[in-house]
Amino acid sequence: MSVYDLHAHSLCSDGTLTPAELVARAHAQGVRTLALTDHDTVAGIGAAGAAAATLGLELVPGVEISVHWETVTLHIVGLYIDPANATLQDGLAELLESRRQRALEIGARLAQCGVPDALAGAAAYGAGPSISRTHFARYLIETGCARDVQTAFKYYLGKGKPAYVPGNWATLAQALAWIDAARGFAVIAHPARYRLGNRKLNRLLGEFKALGGAGVEVVSGSHSREETTRFAALAVRYGLLASVGSDYHGPAVKLWAELGRLSPLPAVCTPVWQAWETARPSRALA
Ligand code: AMP
Ligand code: MN
Ligand code: MN
Ligand code: MN
Repeated sequence: MSVYDLHAHSLCSDGTLTPAELVARAHAQGVRTLALTDHDTVAGIGAAGAAAATLGLELVPGVEISVHWETVTLHIVGLYIDPANATLQDGLAELLESRRQRALEIGARLAQCGVPDALAGAAAYGAGPSISRTHFARYLIETGCARDVQTAFKYYLGKGKPAYVPGNWATLAQALAWIDAARGFAVIAHPARYRLGNRKLNRLLGEFKALGGAGVEVVSGSHSREETTRFAALAVRYGLLASVGSDYHGPAVKLWAELGRLSPLPAVCTPVWQAWETARPSRALA
């Protein structure tokens, strides 16, 4: 159990709870500090912050930015961002537009696979501005084309499958510049999920650190105990802070962990929240 959970999604992207419902559930699970980190949007932060204030929960404004780096898609979480920052908002607006274009193309590809009307079907699962492959996966399940989300990715939506359309994502340098402009802290989300070889992983960590990256998600709902230990050592070696996040998507989504249901950070790590807990007094004066 961790009282910090710094990675979670709402209906504004591919989560299934409203921001207020997400905050209420986090509070009920014993989380005291929650970051809302929707894919490429900050649309839910106002509502989440209002709900958190009534419960006495600390809401860390966040975002999970989609990045294309070398040959892979990476997710960079921005924590403690100013959601009103214009540089960040302009960057995210481009990503959301590219998501809309990509969704049109995914719909067309699925039609060729014999699944008509998938764009409208997928859109019905999202209330927010950030449409993703997860929404298409839910429609594929609804129409009986896939048994579960994993199967939808395996046969239709995953890389190299018939309805796969690459996103026109940000560069690593852009994502870090937007987060920095919004005075936030950049964290590499769920690093084990990219399945990078050692050389490539070290290149990523070196580049990320050189660009001003702050931390790595050492404890993730999708990490095994061994992966957590491995990334704790890497964070220390690269002088990066360590984050903790479930990557929660909703009660019906059996992907990763429940909110707050996370192991503690290994003792060798410096927690990422120290960054804003020490920065806070100077910000209040700014
Ligand atoms: P997108 O950002 O539109 O490419 O969609 C990526 C999202 O789909 C991720 O944030 C996950 O929530 C989900 N996802 C990706 N791969 C899988 C998978 N193999 N099984 C289930 N969900 C996945
Ligand atoms: Mn997601
Ligand atoms: Mn992610
Ligand atoms: Mn996520």
